[in-house]
Order: sequence, then structure tokens, then C-alpha cells
Amino acid sequence: MTHDPRLHHHRWRVAGVSVAARLSHLGSVTLLEAEPAFGYYASGRSPALFEEFYGLPPTIALNRASLDRHRDAGVLSPRGPMLVARADHRAEYDTDITTLSLDPISVEEARSVVPILNPKTMALAARREGAWDINADLLLQGLLREARANGAEALTAAPVQSIRRERDRWIVTTPKGEHEARILVNAACAWIDRIAASARWALRPIDDQLRGFRRRGHDLRGWEMIFGVGKAGTASWMLASF
Ligand SMILES: Cc1cc2nc3c(=O)[nH]c(=O)nc-3n(C[C@H](O)[C@H](O)[C@H](O)COP(=O)(O)OP(=O)(O)OC[C@H]3O[C@@H](n4cnc5c(N)ncnc54)[C@H](O)[C@@H]3O)c2cc1C
Repeated sequence: MTHDPRLHHHRWRVAGVSVAARLSHLGSVTLLEAEPAFGYYASGRSPALFEEFYGLPPTIALNRASLDRHRDAGVLSPRGPMLVARADHRAEYDTDITTLSLDPISVEEARSVVPILNPKTMALAARREGAWDINADLLLQGLLREARANGAEALTAAPVQSIRRERDRWIVTTPKGEHEARILVNAACAWIDRIAASARWALRPIDDQLRGFRRRGHDLRGWEMIFGVGKAGTASWMLASF
């Protein structure tokens, strides 16, 4: 049981640990992770592209605010984004290349980098130097170090089982005991509500798809990050089905 009035709880990975790292400068922090290690879910499985201009305006603002810090921490390495589109998606393509500051390229150029792109389906392509791969593990470990250096406690195998309110405090029960805090941060991503719990299975088709490409002899390491048109300004995107 912890009694610091400024204690903050986190269930999570990258969202939680980054909040923990920043708040650890201001008060006492406890980070609660359900799994035996950090990085099991979205944060450990995503392609981890850092694209400064991707997302809704508040996300872009956050991207831009964190770019220098990530660069200084050495967690970024170069990877250009590529946009591909069918001929009938010209209008969305034009919007996206402006939003994402991309340079139009030919279908042949696109295929010279990513040979599985289907020239019968795609008619338009664009790319830009200047998106980065995130070394997610390095990022995570750096944030954890920062949090711990400021006295934060980071517990694994500590799933939040119940939460109750007592006067001005939150009491959070885990198999590792009860934790008390004035402020509670829920960074459990897909587990924030019961419906989204199915997201952990939604990751499987992507894994299967990637294994399929590798079985067919493709080396994915040099491929661009590919966007379908019309996704750049939304919170979601998909691996294009070209
Ligand atoms: C297929 C895919 C591709 C993506 N590609 C990119 C990309 O290229 N670039 C990019 O920036 N973003 C990408 N994202 C988004 C990015 O991965 C997520 O936004 C980010 O990882 C979310 O981090 P998080 O900490 O919120 O979630 P998570 O990493 O999922 O962390 C949630 C944590 O909560 C824990 N938890 C759940 N229940 C409890 C409980 N009861 N008690 C304690 N802990 C609990 C879980 O164990 C888990 O560790 C992608 C996401 C997906 C799914």
C-alpha cells in the first residue's frame, strides 16, 4: 500500500510509461502492468512508424512536440512513408499528398521499393523521405529508466482487479496488493472497456499476413510504410490491399 497523496497509477505500456516518466518529475508514481513484462500488446506489435504529419491535428501537434526528444534519445531511424491509390481515388490522393507533404512518384518507382504493389490496381503513388522507425524497446526502456530514477515504482504481473473510491483517494487492488492514489490514469488501451478487449485478437490477421509475405520470399525490411488514400487525417489506417 502506498500513501503518497500525489500517487498516479498506470496500467499499460507506452502510453502509461511515458505519462509515468513525465509525472515522476512532479510526484510519486506507481505503474501497474497486468502482464509479466512490459510491451506485450499494441506497443510491442505495431510497425512503430513515427510520421510527424499523420493523425488528427492534436496528434500532429504532439508528434511535433516530441520529435526532438525522440531524435536525441536515438530511438528513430529513417523510413519514408508511401501513399498508393487507384486511379478513381485521385481526389483523395491529391488531398493526402498535400496533408502528408509527399512527392508524387511513378508506379515503377514505387514497385522498385515494394515489388508486391499491383500495377493493375494502383495508378498513383507518392512518398517522402522523413518518417522514422521507432525503436520501441529503446524508447520504453529509456522512459522506464527516467521514471525509476525519479522514484517511480513499476510493477509487472499486477493486473488491476478492482478500483474503489475512498474519500479523495482511489484504491486499486492487484494481486500485488492495494495501491492508493489521488490521481488515476487509465492507459489500458484496448482494455479500457470490455468491448475493446477483442482488439488483442484483432492483431492476429496482421501477423498472419506478414508471415505469408515472408513465406513467399519477400524481405519486408526495406519496404516503405504504405497508406491507402483518405486515411491520413483520421485516427486509423490500414495496410493497403494492393
Ligand atoms: C496493427 C497496429 C499498427 C500500428 N502502427 C503504428 C505505427 O506504425 N506507429 C504508431 O505510432 N502507432 C501505431 N499503432 C498504434 C500504437 O501501437 C498504439 O497507439 C500504442 O501502442 C498504444 O499504446 P498503449 O500504451 O495505449 O497500449 P498497449 O501497448 O496495448 O498497452 C496497454 C497495456 O494495458 C495493460 N492492461 C490491460 N488491462 C490491464 C489491467 N487490468 N491491469 C493492468 N494492466 C492492464 C496491457 O497488458 C497492456 O500492456 C499501431 C497499432 C496497431 C494495432
